Amino acid sequence: MASALNASNKATLAEQARNDTFYMHLALQQARKAYGKGEVPVGAVLVAGGQVIGSGFNQPITATDPTAHAEVQALRAASQAVSNYRLPATTLYVTVEPCTMCLGALIHARVKRVVMGALEPKAGRICSHSLLEDTCFNHLLEVTAGVCAQEASDLMQAFFAERRALKKSLKQRALLAARDNT
Ligand SMILES: [Zn+2]
Repeated sequence: MASALNASNKATLAEQARNDTFYMHLALQQARKAYGKGEVPVGAVLVAGGQVIGSGFNQPITATDPTAHAEVQALRAASQAVSNYRLPATTLYVTVEPCTMCLGALIHARVKRVVMGALEPKAGRICSHSLLEDTCFNHLLEVTAGVCAQEASDLMQAFFAERRALKKSLKQRALLAARDNT
């Protein structure tokens, strides 16, 4: 009996892991959209009953909106789609660990579970500098970390390397122009 239960548990966990990878790939597609717009590449999808009900990518610069993080965009889209500001029984897939604002938004929306890709050692508020133990929150969030973490972190690293290279070449151009003018 115990071993039969164990086997069915294992099957459920394996199925959950497969689903997590599938939806994280959709979140990564969103992150690539942010990359294409010159925004820090973070993407998110919100899933309910096996269906994506909202998706979003990081776009504070292009949207001129400091709150336009991927998670908030996905929550907004989902709330509109289901005409409800509460989103219980949903899972948010996000390529990078959420910040303080996004964790707050997840709690306000009553999201049930969050699945993350790469950790964000500086600003991450779920694992890196967890606020979840804070007793002021009256909502529990299930957490899974490290799903497709390498792909998410490769995307971030490529973005920042490209940005550093661009800054360097602009600086060199400015130096050359200054020399030409002397
Ligand atoms: Zn955020």
